[in-house]
Amino acid sequence: MTSVHELIRGAAEREAAGRPSAAPHRKPIVLRATGASSCDSGLVKDPWAIDRDPGYGPGASLADEIPRSAPRQGPLPARYTDAGDDELRQWIVDAKAALGDRVQILGHFYQRDEIIEHADFVGDSFMLAQAAKSHPEAEAFVFCGVHFMAETADILSDAHQAVILPNLAAGCSMADMATIEQVEDCWRELTAALGEAPGPDGRQPVIPVTYMNSSAAIKAFCGRNGGIVCTSSNARTVLEWAFERGQRVVFFPDQHLGRNTAKAMGISEDLMPLWRPHLALGGNTIEQLEASRVILWNGFCSVHKRFTVAQIEQARSEYPGVRVIVHPECPAAVVEAADGAGSTEYIRKEIEAAQPGDVIAVGTEINLVNRLQEQHPELTIFCLDPVVCPCSTMYRIHPAYLAWTLESLLAGEEPNRIRVADSVAEDSRVALERMLAARP
Ligand code: SF4
Repeated sequence: MTSVHELIRGAAEREAAGRPSAAPHRKPIVLRATGASSCDSGLVKDPWAIDRDPGYGPGASLADEIPRSAPRQGPLPARYTDAGDDELRQWIVDAKAALGDRVQILGHFYQRDEIIEHADFVGDSFMLAQAAKSHPEAEAFVFCGVHFMAETADILSDAHQAVILPNLAAGCSMADMATIEQVEDCWRELTAALGEAPGPDGRQPVIPVTYMNSSAAIKAFCGRNGGIVCTSSNARTVLEWAFERGQRVVFFPDQHLGRNTAKAMGISEDLMPLWRPHLALGGNTIEQLEASRVILWNGFCSVHKRFTVAQIEQARSEYPGVRVIVHPECPAAVVEAADGAGSTEYIRKEIEAAQPGDVIAVGTEINLVNRLQEQHPELTIFCLDPVVCPCSTMYRIHPAYLAWTLESLLAGEEPNRIRVADSVAEDSRVALERMLAARP
């Protein structure tokens, strides 16, 4: 199976040699590209070459700013950085076999194939955190995803179980767009402007709602303040829960998921002011906040914001009859122009339900799209974005880090353990349990 990394490297080499970018074995994704290759030629570098640089690395948007408090990955021993792909693969297989059921490897849908092949579970962030919860016999979970996901797994797993993030540089630029300090400042301003006492109908002035893609500290903040967590699958149910208890919602950190969900519920965009954390009242007037139904934090996913209406038009002109499905982290205009929008699970179900010969353009992360095409050769599935641009932080989990992590565990060490403080975990669980109890 050819990974996106190999596609990028191949495209870069062909470009350097002055030849057109093309990979015949990945026809649906690459051949429709008009000579384009990857969104950043730096993606051919190995992650340890950039781990200690500030920022999210190649492929991230220029607007992504890494918080000072984000963990930094130390140097990887030369044994791993000097090893070849086959050697790393063998070390991973051997260490995993020696560790047996003591260690479970969790792989996010957006991971590269050379990680996914070793995963015991593959899923989205919440599915993987639940997988961690359902394995009390495991001593450790190696979470091949990003930082906030490992935090959620630590919150939901037992205290004696270690959750390990193979590369600490694997943060999530969207989650990092809302820090707990900024969220607390926002809350102070909102409660000062809108009051804290419930209205005549008993509803609070504002209910905080946070997307799963946020730090444990923000989930705990929501737990402490009558709020709740949501995923991209249950965002509408969670907003309905919140509107039963509040006159309006403040939604962290993804403006697009908040806007798309609220629009689908019939809420007008005029009633969804954007909160810009560096401005007083988030850049709004008190009147705008009073009239609001959903206050949207100014965050976004660098991967999903790349999708455009022009790409959908291009796909429709190249493939008449194509079905276009996108993730709700895409901008509202893209969601409107698509035939359907929903979580990764929705996208997978749509593809399962397709008929042989169907053509499906997907607006989500390319490793997942690539894998769906591999799993469904009877369909033509391609990524709406003709440029190869994986999630730049998932990309930081390279087999060299997985081999190092597993061999360290075998030697009795616990590298890169992610620990959420007990008080934060307790309040986060309140918000997560509200989500699990919310019913449509
Ligand atoms: S795809 Fe977007 S939201 Fe998901 S981990 Fe990557 S940057 Fe974060």
